[in-house]
Amino acid sequence: MSDKISFQADVSKMLNIVINSLYSEKQIFLRELISNASDACDKLKYMALTNPGIAKQSGQLKIKIHADAEKNTLTISDNGIGMNKDDLINHLGTIAKSGTAEFVKNAADNGSAVELIGQFGVGFYAAFMVADKVEIITKRAGEEQAWKWESNGIDGFEISLAERNCNGTDIKLFLKDDAKDYADTIYLRQIIRTYSDHIGYPIVLDLGAAGEETVNTASALWTRHKSEITEDNYKEFYHHISHNFDDPWLTLHFKAEGNIEYTGLLFVPSEAPHDLFQPDKKNGLKLYVNRVFISDKVEELIPSYLRFVKGIIDSADLSLNISREMLQHSPLIEKIKHGTVSRILKELKKRIKNYDDYMVFWKNFGAVLKEGIYEDFANREEIASLAYFATTGFENKLTTLDEYLERIKEDKKVVYYITGDDVNVLKNNPQLEAFRAKNIEVLLLTDPVDEFWTQVLPNYKGAAIKHISQADDILKWDRNEPKADAGSLQKLMDFVGELLKSEVGKVVATEKLTKSPVSLTVENGQMSLHLERLMRNNQQHTAFASMRILELNPYHPLIIKLADMIMDEKNKTKIEEVVKLLLDQAKIAEGEPVADPSFYSEKMSQYILQAL
Ligand code: ADP
Repeated sequence: MSDKISFQADVSKMLNIVINSLYSEKQIFLRELISNASDACDKLKYMALTNPGIAKQSGQLKIKIHADAEKNTLTISDNGIGMNKDDLINHLGTIAKSGTAEFVKNAADNGSAVELIGQFGVGFYAAFMVADKVEIITKRAGEEQAWKWESNGIDGFEISLAERNCNGTDIKLFLKDDAKDYADTIYLRQIIRTYSDHIGYPIVLDLGAAGEETVNTASALWTRHKSEITEDNYKEFYHHISHNFDDPWLTLHFKAEGNIEYTGLLFVPSEAPHDLFQPDKKNGLKLYVNRVFISDKVEELIPSYLRFVKGIIDSADLSLNISREMLQHSPLIEKIKHGTVSRILKELKKRIKNYDDYMVFWKNFGAVLKEGIYEDFANREEIASLAYFATTGFENKLTTLDEYLERIKEDKKVVYYITGDDVNVLKNNPQLEAFRAKNIEVLLLTDPVDEFWTQVLPNYKGAAIKHISQADDILKWDRNEPKADAGSLQKLMDFVGELLKSEVGKVVATEKLTKSPVSLTVENGQMSLHLERLMRNNQQHTAFASMRILELNPYHPLIIKLADMIMDEKNKTKIEEVVKLLLDQAKIAEGEPVADPSFYSEKMSQYILQAL
């Protein structure tokens, strides 16, 4: 009796992508299957903490590789946790990882995203790169019934009852004609050494009449002495725990001693995962207590602004029977987190010295790290010192706050910033004109998080951090240019205020503008227009939309002209039209949509035509 079950639609697509896109890296199937077997042994060890009988039944945990060159099969066996029928259906017939299904649909539809496949840890499905049939015999620890799962990797799989002596899993691959090499023990030994030496359980190669050979070092990688670990060992360990295909940008292996002892082996990827900003994404580090795996993705071990860090923490000082719930309130875990954070920040501080190298990290994770300026009160200033920003000071280079401060010649140091959606739009924002005229550098902040950290970091190393709208002192300057007459300017402002009262709360004359006739801003201390747009895009209510201020430039010929014209009643209709166009211009410069695009374009064409 057997059940025939179809793959979830996404699985078939996934298989297709895996087989086609990773074709040149076929060997990785073995590392994926060994990685799964090692996870299964970890899970069994954890289960045995509360159920010692299980450990006795399993004996020494190990991974066995048995090749049959005559029959062209390769079997990877473990005596780990095993799977029951539900596990087989849920884990090997569907794509469980969040976001993966969506990715696969896109990749399959347009083919172009195929190189992204590496982000998803193809896992078990990699077996079908080398096998045209896979047969699994497995028994879940603590259960009586064993199960057989078979599939050709095309349409679906069959499940039937089976027999297996002890808990664990055998994965038997019926090798494709062009993959017969994988039944050769010499070749297998070489691949295992390359990809899986870091695995903490013995990987035993069955040599038939010649007996068995353990091919890997078989001790948990983080417990080995640094001098015995190669860069490739670290890299492969990173692949194993992160399920990523990229190489780590940063590898941090340390032993903390003192009140509490623990070892950390942490990595920062060199590529950003697709779901870095997905709220339901599970983050965190793997926790081991004295090499016994306790929990996956322990969020308490790492703050959310370092959620891109992958790795493990192992401490013998935690109790082995620490429950997953207890992790949340453990002061020891809190201490480990604290120590780990300062080590990572220290490491970033070293790497920031090399701009090009640091940019690889910054482009991927900068926006996430900056959340720390907002969230981590104790490390606020240090995290700010690790941040890079776009600036009016340079075209294509970013700056740190320290570099910005060094460039200020005056004794009184202030860091000015402006926020918006896009660096290129921001650069041309009329609000920057006075700063440009006076040669004052302004940071151009475009990440949503910038709106928040700037609210909680009023000072950096003694310098004030100010939004450009708070730069009142900048505005005091002598300008020997023609200016609109004060009386008629006031009349114009009253008129404009009345005309635009549904959209603009206040009309003022400003000294800030040089090139533009008008500009839109908000009252000091109110939510910026950029933040308002962000909230609108997130469907958040902005019932408290900030009051808009329309600023007029009294030195601009257009404003001088309008101020002249306003003195004559018969110009009113014309002025109304021009003022509406000016408001639209101010909105465009700020990145806001215009209220009536067809009015705007019709009138603009008219005026252009007149000018030609
Ligand atoms: P991932 O390992 O990234 O979760 P895989 O496709 O490799 O994705 O495996 C899916 C799931 O199948 C695993 O999470 C695990 O629950 C189960 N699994 C795979 N191989 C084994 C094994 N040897 N023993 C027990 N469970 C396994």
